[in-house]
Amino acid sequence: MSSSQPDRKARRFPLQLDQVATLKSSGPKAASAAQAGARELLRPQAHLQQIEQDRKRHSTPQGVGLDSVQVRRRMVERLMMDGISHTQVLDAFARVPRHLFVDSALVNQAYEDTSLPIGLGQTISKPSVVAAMIQSLCVRPGAAQAGAAHGKPLGHCLEIGTGCGYQAALLGHLSRRVVSIERLRDLHVKARANLDSMRQHLPGWPDVRLVYGDGMIGHAPLAPYDTIIAAAGGSALPQAWIDQLAPGGRLVAPLEESRGTQVLTILDRLPDGSLQHSRAGAVLFVPLKSGTT
Ligand code: SAH
Repeated sequence: MSSSQPDRKARRFPLQLDQVATLKSSGPKAASAAQAGARELLRPQAHLQQIEQDRKRHSTPQGVGLDSVQVRRRMVERLMMDGISHTQVLDAFARVPRHLFVDSALVNQAYEDTSLPIGLGQTISKPSVVAAMIQSLCVRPGAAQAGAAHGKPLGHCLEIGTGCGYQAALLGHLSRRVVSIERLRDLHVKARANLDSMRQHLPGWPDVRLVYGDGMIGHAPLAPYDTIIAAAGGSALPQAWIDQLAPGGRLVAPLEESRGTQVLTILDRLPDGSLQHSRAGAVLFVPLKSGTT
């Protein structure tokens, strides 16, 4: 789908409806279509085979961070072709080993631009959509006040929907502090294990505060947040998120517009406290649900 866009350079926020890749591509049909459209230079399997051979030759610590540098670089090149230009966002994608967050059976697809199942009916979003959402937060008008000057363009960040922790890791590289909430206990535990293992092997790996709870109420103890990002979409933006958004802050979330259709919504809290909405394009995320399980 993104490969069918005639003008890749135009894919910047705010995006037109037809410019945002939808997560419909998570289905098997779309996945094979995406594979068919993949460019020749994208051969993650070949790199991963090479990586496996290298891993056998050198006894690196589970290969964390060392083994997939090349294949991640290719993903970054594709993100650049898709209109992602924020250097630190690209750098975060180059650093976080996506293959270590997905099931080992799916490792060969880890660097394709596709969403992947992470268990319990949930999915890890496709890199191009995650990158576009994060970039939109980094370039918000209030970024300069919130730590962008110190290399932390997301400032104090809240994520709703930790899932496997991949996006939380990306956010960690770009924030002064990340709070990430997950309502499914098993995924919360899995994300903690994933992030703990990164920290053990990679010195300087950012600390992410993981919270098990209902993200619909945000996380008041550490509010306000300069940036809020939701990985699940409901029919309305919860009032708690809006209340917990700092002046100069930006929230990006999928929002159900009519039955079965979601639109990426951007909400800015202007320095005077007023709110400004904009729409970025059609997406398809898993549903935002209340309560915990
Ligand atoms: N960012 C994740 C993607 C997670 S998919 C990653 O990188 O893996 C969306 C997640 O949102 C799911 O794990 C789902 O359980 C969670 N979710 C849905 N409603 C929620 C809520 N009210 N509070 C917290 N998490 C929620």
